[in-house]
Amino acid sequence: MSNPHEEVRTSEDPTKAILSESGLNSKHLCDYVVNVATGCRHGCKFCYVPSTPNIRARPDMLKNKVGVNNTQKEWGKYVLYRTGLGDRLDEHLENKRTWRETRRGQGVVGVSFSTDCYMDGKAGEITRNVVETLSKHEKYTRVLTRNPILALQDIDVFEEAGEYVTIGSSIPSMKSDEVGAIEPNAPAPEHRLRGLKEFDKHGVQTFVSMSPTYPTQSKSDLRSQLERIAECNPAVVFHEPINPRGGNFEMTVQAARDAGEDELVTELKRLSDRDNWVEYATKHLRWVHEIGTELGLPIHLWPDKQLIKHVSEEEAVWLQSWRDRQSPEEFAEREMPSNTVPSYPVESD
Ligand code: SF4
Repeated sequence: MSNPHEEVRTSEDPTKAILSESGLNSKHLCDYVVNVATGCRHGCKFCYVPSTPNIRARPDMLKNKVGVNNTQKEWGKYVLYRTGLGDRLDEHLENKRTWRETRRGQGVVGVSFSTDCYMDGKAGEITRNVVETLSKHEKYTRVLTRNPILALQDIDVFEEAGEYVTIGSSIPSMKSDEVGAIEPNAPAPEHRLRGLKEFDKHGVQTFVSMSPTYPTQSKSDLRSQLERIAECNPAVVFHEPINPRGGNFEMTVQAARDAGEDELVTELKRLSDRDNWVEYATKHLRWVHEIGTELGLPIHLWPDKQLIKHVSEEEAVWLQSWRDRQSPEEFAEREMPSNTVPSYPVESD
């Protein structure tokens, strides 16, 4: 494992990539992504990015530029900025003749989903220009950051973008110790919420991603969390449980162990058993929906495809309806009846 006190190595990213089509429309997030850097200072233990082609296909460049020997293990210790990206994007959009708008992605541009676009001042400068450019070209933009407090430095740009921009943050839990174990270098949940509240006060649309909620969270924890999230008046609250498949899950368990979060370790390990995972995941999805509805929050669930295969037929219909439904945000088109979510099936005793 990399040394936590080791400096983050930085350089310029030689990539020509500006705007890429994205598969995140499957989650109703966006049709395109713009990434302001390669690498991310936060180094979250569950992060899928180091296993994507953007990182895996570029080992020589990462070795040459920032001395990376193991792109996965050293994740969080290298960042290559895409300086001047806003200007290149402007030129690109001037010449772009077609625009992809899927029903789920709505032609929205996500900034950034493979790094945190406000992880530091330099990334923030690039992001400012990118958001300015997208708004100038009237492109709907979804900014995702765990550091919305830093993003407040660009509040003028967000205000100017008006309906074209929304800013959100991942708030998996309000338990800062557990979140700190899994996302060791990212700002605490309270900090994220405080930033989003400020954006809301300035009339900027916000969203929250409860992704993923941990198996240590009880129904009452989720209620408190949703009550707190309501404070930033989000246009949508996305939710998904943790998925124990894949290597990142082992790294998450190890991170919790290293941080001495024993209860979290025990509960995470239980999820390796499929029945336990199905029970926890469906319970959390139901609870978030139920509590969110009670609180009048615009919830949007992200049930996993695999999960749907292992629940009752009735429950599968309910979960699938969330996968087919549009996000309830203002800019999203409202298509009936696919936008309608049936009530959760009533359980018999
Ligand atoms: S902030 Fe996002 S991109 Fe950065 S390490 Fe965490 S999950 Fe990955």
